[in-house]
Amino acid sequence: MPETTEVLIVGAGPTGLMLAGDLAAAGVSVTVLERRTRKSVLTRAFAVHARTLELLDARGIADELVAGGARIDRLQMIGDAQLDLARLPSRFPFMLLTPQHETEALLAGRAEALGAEVVLGAEVTGLRQDADGVRVSVRRSDGTRPTFRARYAVGADGMNSVVRTALGLPFPGRAALRSVMLADVRLSVPQQEPVANAVREGIAFVSPLGDGWHRVVAWDRGKQMPVEAALGLDDVRTITRKALGTDFGMHDPRWLSRFQTDERQVPRYRVGRVFLAGDAAHVHSPAGGQGMNTGLQDAANLAWRLAAAVRGQAPDGVLDAYEAERHPIGRSVIRDSGRMMRMALVHSPVVRTLVNAASRTAVRIPPLADRMAAKATGIAVAYPAPSGAHPLAGKRAPDLKLASGPGTAKRLYEALRACRFVLVSRHAPATVSTERLVTVAPAGPTAPAMMLVRPDGYVAWAADHDDKDDHDAMLAAIDAWVGARQGAAQ
Ligand SMILES: Cc1cc2nc3c(=O)[nH]c(=O)nc-3n(C[C@H](O)[C@H](O)[C@H](O)COP(=O)(O)OP(=O)(O)OC[C@H]3O[C@@H](n4cnc5c(N)ncnc54)[C@H](O)[C@@H]3O)c2cc1C
Repeated sequence: MPETTEVLIVGAGPTGLMLAGDLAAAGVSVTVLERRTRKSVLTRAFAVHARTLELLDARGIADELVAGGARIDRLQMIGDAQLDLARLPSRFPFMLLTPQHETEALLAGRAEALGAEVVLGAEVTGLRQDADGVRVSVRRSDGTRPTFRARYAVGADGMNSVVRTALGLPFPGRAALRSVMLADVRLSVPQQEPVANAVREGIAFVSPLGDGWHRVVAWDRGKQMPVEAALGLDDVRTITRKALGTDFGMHDPRWLSRFQTDERQVPRYRVGRVFLAGDAAHVHSPAGGQGMNTGLQDAANLAWRLAAAVRGQAPDGVLDAYEAERHPIGRSVIRDSGRMMRMALVHSPVVRTLVNAASRTAVRIPPLADRMAAKATGIAVAYPAPSGAHPLAGKRAPDLKLASGPGTAKRLYEALRACRFVLVSRHAPATVSTERLVTVAPAGPTAPAMMLVRPDGYVAWAADHDDKDDHDAMLAAIDAWVGARQGAAQ
């Protein structure tokens, strides 16, 4: 007999673990199958952006993550241009540098504490679906070959996704940059902030990782080697000196490798009962540090939809809207990070001087710089709203102060920690509460006067007043977004 669960997640990277935590918080039984036999100690991602920190705040783990990392309040652009993050309208007006395994450890701890089962040493080898569910074949590290069955499955299994292959989906795109060098090193001259520069011969980027080590990512135009070719620290030193004028005394590498950056996106994020999220759905240049951040937001967007579907309370189209909302975001991340990388790679010194000058000018024009900062940090992400909707619909919900809310919640993002919809209203009748919706009252007058916030922190519906007509509209919005009201069950 296959082991059964409500949702199966393939891959315990950041995307899978975030999704598992959100599903478990919503009361869904969830199993994560992970090929690795031990927790990850690798650090690919190390930049956690403001919008991701807001999401992690709405899950109760941001403060702990921030406490262990390094805050950077400027984002290094091409050349010497820097984007000021301190002006971001967020509780987290900075970029956090922290190793990916720290983020994963917190996500794993949360998911397991909430009841998700994470099975290590379980490599998924195949997947089939029928009208009622999904069957997944697994090869365990102990040699056994169990099968698992679930109502829904999610491939969060990274760039070479087995789930994507089993769905017969292509992964169109291209190899963007070959032979990029990566080195995690100690520096004799430690850096407090990331530094980057591009010259005719190549590029070098050096950043603290937040744990005393530094990450060097470099590319040497004149030394294009296969990714399997051996890499010595001298190769990295040479191009770093050319690009940045010094190698900062790099020594004692703990990790040296070459990789190639691809720009690819799967055409569909959903096939029947199976979904794709994170690197399984999109990969792109590491410029701008967007991959993990985007995967975590995919997961938060998908989780509440799946939870509603498992409960049989998903209004029409709620599952399909995952792809409709997240596919365009993935496309724009691929486009923007690719553009950033191509600008850095410009061959002509004249064009490079112009690009650098344009970057320097742009970051000095406050409205333009603010827009760039909001985009780079995910703060600007918004989803399409129906015509006639309130201007805030589809946008990120502001972290309002609350007069009352569930438990000790004093802010909206604390009220979101139960992974339910949150209705912000001074006069909401108790009967609107359901097991998927909590009601909170703002601490003072707010604009808008009422707001229905999705579990992923985006505004589903809002109204500027709270008179009778608006209350009817509020009840209609709850029915449309949350499903049938079931009487007070907070
Ligand atoms: C050099 C570099 C720097 C980067 N820097 C940043 C950054 O600063 N910020 C950022 O946001 N992103 C960054 N990224 C990208 C980021 O690392 C990825 O986007 C992120 O790890 C994707 O998370 P994921 O959970 O979707 O996939 P992954 O992290 O790839 O996790 C997938 C998991 O699935 C497991 N798995 C795979 N196949 C199977 C199978 N068949 N059965 C069971 N389990 C399976 C894997 O073992 C793995 O644990 C960087 C990437 C690189 C290469």
